[in-house]
Amino acid sequence: MNVNDSEIMSGLLTKAGYLWTENPEDADIVLINSCAVREKAENKMYGTIGQFLKIKKSRKLIIGVGGCSAEKEGKAILERFDGVDFVFGTRNISDIVNLIQRAQKHKRFVDLSDKLDCVSYELPKNPTSRHHAWITIIYGCNKYCTYCIVPYTRGLEKSRPYEDIINEVYDYAAKGYREITFLGQNVDSYGKDFSDGKPKLDLLIKKVSEIEEIKRVWFLTSYPTDITDSLIDEIAASRNAARNVHLPVQAGSDRILKSMNRRYTRQQFIDLVKKVKDKIPSVTISSDIIVGFPGETEEDFQQTVDLIKECRFERVNLAEYSPRQGTIAYKYKPDNIPSEVKNRRLMYLMELQKEINREENEKYRDKLLRIIPEAKASDTALYGRTMNNKIVIFNSQDTSLIGKFADIKIKRITAGPLYGEMTKNENDAGFDIQNDPTFMI
Ligand code: SAH
Repeated sequence: MNVNDSEIMSGLLTKAGYLWTENPEDADIVLINSCAVREKAENKMYGTIGQFLKIKKSRKLIIGVGGCSAEKEGKAILERFDGVDFVFGTRNISDIVNLIQRAQKHKRFVDLSDKLDCVSYELPKNPTSRHHAWITIIYGCNKYCTYCIVPYTRGLEKSRPYEDIINEVYDYAAKGYREITFLGQNVDSYGKDFSDGKPKLDLLIKKVSEIEEIKRVWFLTSYPTDITDSLIDEIAASRNAARNVHLPVQAGSDRILKSMNRRYTRQQFIDLVKKVKDKIPSVTISSDIIVGFPGETEEDFQQTVDLIKECRFERVNLAEYSPRQGTIAYKYKPDNIPSEVKNRRLMYLMELQKEINREENEKYRDKLLRIIPEAKASDTALYGRTMNNKIVIFNSQDTSLIGKFADIKIKRITAGPLYGEMTKNENDAGFDIQNDPTFMI
């Protein structure tokens, strides 16, 4: 989401005549787009500000700090760092050119206004990829998980108008884009804030399946209780919806789920995973898990271990609990799990997940998988992804393959990427574009 915000800011600045530089030493204006989900991310922002303040000592430089930490800290950033010229929020990036012009008039300020209504598909963007586009469909979050800062930094849920999103997809398709990712804290809540209160990601998935140029549609992140049967059915029926659902579970014990204010039980989550796997052939499910939430006992942790064994995720983003000032958990309980315990639990889950990946990946050995190459993996290899989000590496220096279909015969399995050799690609005569061999497995 931050990447998408940066693409928009960069596009607006380019259109206004500003030039982008790779080298921070050359810049006249620096914008820092921060994250506040964990303390580490926030510290990174302070480190980056420090770096630019050093440069500013010897010459003129405008420094603007935006994103989640900026939204959260506001004036405190100006007070702490004399050299920061302005602080902007998560909902007014579309106003960035005005904000810079204001800062150039030498008056330091904080502006956290909400300009989301000004976002439209017509905003210029400088996308980071030429074949894969990020499209934010819903802003903010209403869930108030007790550990999470997002509702305070990104505000409450606000869905973008349906037509505007579809126009953006058509726009990217016309520019030659072949993959899109719909983004949001909870993409499956998309549309619940419209007058009929019904979630509508299913309608978006259905509509985008009719846009021939778009070969793949990803959607990140789904909240476990918002994913509807109709959405699951649309994914299963879709020509181009990714066979990967990112469903953060966060913890495996009902007691911890409750104190995190997650709105499902362990069993409901397991049943959902089963349903998704049953209804969508070849689907993989990935997840997020936090270890060391306040009060997490060995028994609670064991339940997380068991849940991972039962769900057999394709990938898990693991994090140690990081107390965030302003959240509910910060107030009602101390951060009482020692860091050695958090770390031990994290390492244990990492090893467990590796083992599961290694076992699961066996089923791809010697099989043919279809990927879209994304970038270089090394000087002699490219990497890409299957429709169910498996990362595949193969020997090739032909970067013209990036963004096109390629079929790879898998030769080597690891707990991470799969390695193979390309048998055919989209440019070859007789390439069967309709039938993805990944789905035969
Ligand atoms: N809306 C998504 C997640 C968005 S935040 C959901 O359904 O939960 C991305 C991830 O950061 C979360 O899934 C969570 O695992 C992690 N996270 C959020 N707050 C955290 C905290 N205080 N400490 C550690 N990890 C955290």
